[in-house]
Amino acid sequence: MHAIVCEEPGRLVFKEQAKPEVKEGYAQIRIRRIGVCGTDLHAFEGTQPYFTYPRILGHELSGELVEPNGAPGFEKGEIVTIIPYFNCGVCIACRWGKPNCCAQINVCGVHVDGGMTEYLNVPIHSLVHGDGLSYDELALVEPLAIGAHSIRRANVKSGEFVLVIGAGPIGLGIMEFAHIAGAKIIAMDLNTKRLEFCRDRLNIDHIINVSTEDVPERLATITKGDMPTVVIDATGSLKAINGGFQYMAHGARYILVGLQKGDITLSHPEFHKREATLMSSRNATREDFEHVIASMKKGLVQPSNYITHRVQFDKVTNEFKSWLDPANGVIKAMIEV
Ligand SMILES: [Zn+2]
Ligand SMILES: [Zn+2]
Repeated sequence: MHAIVCEEPGRLVFKEQAKPEVKEGYAQIRIRRIGVCGTDLHAFEGTQPYFTYPRILGHELSGELVEPNGAPGFEKGEIVTIIPYFNCGVCIACRWGKPNCCAQINVCGVHVDGGMTEYLNVPIHSLVHGDGLSYDELALVEPLAIGAHSIRRANVKSGEFVLVIGAGPIGLGIMEFAHIAGAKIIAMDLNTKRLEFCRDRLNIDHIINVSTEDVPERLATITKGDMPTVVIDATGSLKAINGGFQYMAHGARYILVGLQKGDITLSHPEFHKREATLMSSRNATREDFEHVIASMKKGLVQPSNYITHRVQFDKVTNEFKSWLDPANGVIKAMIEV
């Protein structure tokens, strides 16, 4: 079989490898689609923290279950996706029903080899049924589940204003699930093209370009002076995160989905007088994956909107570098295996 190995930053190699043997506790998937995400691009660039090489990238996956190996309720040949956050099952987070933030987490394609391969072994408990959806749709469940998880963390209520900072693929997923929760959404970014995508393809009513507009004034106008009761950062930019505190309404929640390496600073009196809540949102759980799949089946999310680039498995090494260039307008590149 073939696999694509990131040998070192900047070098992807398409090569022949032995097909893995099926091991106890693991099922085997014939991979059919791999969605490419920021993590993969940063790993390729060499800017992803704590990343070791060589590594097979890819965690947004769908395929055919060729060997269920006793996975309860799963049948040979069925179409599946996976929850790519392989958890330990025994740590405090796992015991408390939060496997998404397991203390010993192994993310597929990050800490352990991932899906840019024809055959992949995955823990049986990571399998998710995909019947009724296409391979493309299923490969988009994971990035959307990250958005769904953040909306559940924020406990978004119908009718409230949610400000989403950052309109990349994760930000767009957050907007989709804020919309499903009945929120009024304000999309903010510094990229005009991305904001136009929000307005034209996702029907977002309010868009703000942070580089050209007076953000506090626009927010006050849109919310009739209240300001947003939920602010979600999907940029992972320290400057954007520090700036987000001032946009919160009194009593608001601020949820960090994007991650960066620095220390956050905030004005304690400003934070305190709002009785604000700050929380992070990491990965997603099975509940979120199921919410995304159910929403896709009801037609509430149109995953095909996101796919801007498509490439065959044996051509990936030629194209991958170009997806880093913002001028190419990549939202989601999809690899067909
Ligand atoms: Zn991803
Ligand atoms: Zn754990």
